[in-house]
Amino acid sequence: MAKPTEAEAEAAVRLLIEWAGDDPDREGLIDTPKRVARSYRELFAGYQADPRDYLQRTFEEIAGYDELVVLKNIRVTSFCEHHMLPVIGCAHVGYLPNRRVVGISKLARVVQGFSRRLQIQEKLTAEIASAIQDILDPQGVGVVIEAEHSCMTLRGVNTIGVTLTTSKLLGVIRDDARTREEFLDLVRKS
Ligand SMILES: [Zn+2]
Repeated sequence: MAKPTEAEAEAAVRLLIEWAGDDPDREGLIDTPKRVARSYRELFAGYQADPRDYLQRTFEEIAGYDELVVLKNIRVTSFCEHHMLPVIGCAHVGYLPNRRVVGISKLARVVQGFSRRLQIQEKLTAEIASAIQDILDPQGVGVVIEAEHSCMTLRGVNTIGVTLTTSKLLGVIRDDARTREEFLDLVRKS
C-alpha cells in the first residue's frame, strides 16, 4: 500500500472541511489542512516504530526482587478505529518479574506506541499485555485501561463521564488468586 503524499493528505482534509459545511479558503482555515496533516504524524506515530522494540533492553541486577512492579496512570491518547475520534484515559501496567526488569519509562512508551494508532480499547489492552509477556517473559502481566470514548461522549448517545474499563491478565496475575488480588488492589488505589 503506497503511502499518500502530504499534498494528498491535505486535499483530503480540505474535502472534509467542505463536507462539514465550511469554506476551506477562508482566512482561519487556509492553513488547517497542512496543520492537520502534520499533527497526524504525531498522533499516529505508533505506525512509525514497533513499540515492542522499547522492551528489548532489560536489567538483570535486581537483587532477587520478585514482587509486582506496577506503573499506574499512564496517559492514553488514542483514536477509535470506528469513528477516528479521541479515546482519552489511563493505563495501569504491572508484571511479576522473572529475573529481569525493564526501565519503567519503557512501559509507558509501549503504551504510547500502541495507543497512537487507530484502535479499539480491547485490542490495545491485549497488545500491550502480550508484548510485555513475549519479550520480558515475566511470571505474569496485568494491563488495565480506563478511557473515555469521544464517539460516545461527543456524539451518538452523548453520555458524558462514561468510561470503559478493559483488562488483560496473563500468567500468575491471571491464575494465582492472591497475585491477581494484589495487582488489582494496587491498581484500584490509583
Ligand atoms: Zn468510536
